[in-house]
Amino acid sequence: MNRPDFLSADAKYRFIFDHFIDLIMVCDAGFTIIESNEAANIVLGKGESLIGEKCHQVLRQNNRPCVDCPLRDTVNSGTVIPLVKYDNRFNEYFEERCFPILSETEELDSFIITVKNITKSRELEEKSTQMKKLTALGQISSGVAHDFNNVLTVVLGRVQLMKRLSSDPYFLKSLDMIEKSALDGASKVRKIQEFSRPSSKTLNESVNLKNIIEEVVEITRPKWDAASTIKGILIEPILELNDDLFILGDSSDLRNAFTNIIFNAIDAMPNGGILSIKTEQMDNYIHVNFKDTGIGMTEETIERVFDPFFTTKGVLGSGLGMSEVYGIIKRHNGKTYIQSEAGNGTTIKIRFPSAKQSVEKISAAAVAQTNTFSIYIIDDEEYILETLRDFLSDLGHTIHTNTDPRQALADIKKNTFDIVITDLGMPGINGLELAENIKSINPRIQVILISGWALNLNESDLENRIDFVLNKPFSFEKITFTLSEVGKKLAASNRKASS
Ligand code: ADP
Ligand code: MG
Repeated sequence: MNRPDFLSADAKYRFIFDHFIDLIMVCDAGFTIIESNEAANIVLGKGESLIGEKCHQVLRQNNRPCVDCPLRDTVNSGTVIPLVKYDNRFNEYFEERCFPILSETEELDSFIITVKNITKSRELEEKSTQMKKLTALGQISSGVAHDFNNVLTVVLGRVQLMKRLSSDPYFLKSLDMIEKSALDGASKVRKIQEFSRPSSKTLNESVNLKNIIEEVVEITRPKWDAASTIKGILIEPILELNDDLFILGDSSDLRNAFTNIIFNAIDAMPNGGILSIKTEQMDNYIHVNFKDTGIGMTEETIERVFDPFFTTKGVLGSGLGMSEVYGIIKRHNGKTYIQSEAGNGTTIKIRFPSAKQSVEKISAAAVAQTNTFSIYIIDDEEYILETLRDFLSDLGHTIHTNTDPRQALADIKKNTFDIVITDLGMPGINGLELAENIKSINPRIQVILISGWALNLNESDLENRIDFVLNKPFSFEKITFTLSEVGKKLAASNRKASS
């Protein structure tokens, strides 16, 4: 190739013209192309020169000038008005601009057309709008979730207290129903929170994937069966599960995630089909694949499948299933991939780091607790305070409460307490600052932080300040379990102090 500075002026401009990545054409006033650069020739003319062709023909396969010709708008308005068109020959978006060239008598002599491929920049723009939308949505919903969690904490707490006191079967049944509904509400709120939050829940269970998957297939059995009895179609699960693959995790969350994936696969096979579930270990990773022979997903669906509220099922869908899957797998330090094509089935591929050592499952026995403590509870919501106090004093603990964190701090300076349970967001001084002050007064006081926010406390936030985190709404089993863990920690530090 010749260097432009060795060329004549004409050839130099030709060289530059041909090296533009945008398509450039010059047309006469009758829309006939009189010049075209290499890019235009390659894209629109399959490598042949476009000279002599009509611009409307090569750009849009129109036999006459286009109704939305950007030249007209540009001439009428006096400024260059770009036109964005989707070209289904290439599946790409192009931006067209026309620059009129006028004669001495101010008549249109000819014009230049530039065509730029803007598919990539459009995608980036859409992604960033999408990110902004999700951030806003996340902020709104986490605020709502926080308030709901406070409400549900009181409902759930009061119901559980009443259940302990009542022996009337009618009341007990009603209380059970209220409790179940409140728990249901809590799980809905959690779904919304889980999308954006790496949960503070510790992954301390060694989960056998084979067991979990077999359980989930059983749990979802009614849906497989309904498909075959109602629609007369057969959906067949095929399991290829390795015996001893363990990951560190939370079995109820994993059950939830796998259930969502299986439900989606069943929905995607309205005429029957096969869902194969396979697990295998490769190096330090465990792979779980859910492969269905269903309707598959379009490119657009694949792109949005993890968005909360994205559904293609109209009123039948909530659009929360896959966003929940995403959140749960991410919290398990895993990755979720989608392999799908419209009409050709879907494979949901999940990759987990394998558990190096199996960790003892929290046993029901651990929940039983024997120690009683002197506990200070601080929350600006009086109902929550009262509910916790009633429950904990019922278990034999000595309870002090305060809605004002500053007063509480003054009390803690004067008297000894084993445990402080504090809310996170409070007027005046927040839970973390309070915890820091408490630890500086007496580092042996165990601080339990309770919160209705989707907590995202990183290690350094927690370090030396917070010993345990309880997310609202909590069941009394969870509190009891946490207290027994606190007991173990206190006993260990007592042994250390006395040896
Ligand atoms: P919902 O099931 O309520 O629609 P999800 O978040 O579970 O919400 O799924 C979102 C969308 O992803 C579904 O509406 C569907 O279009 C698509 N999808 C998920 N799984 C599959 C699958 N296995 N096959 C085809 N499409 C799927
Ligand atoms: Mg779903």
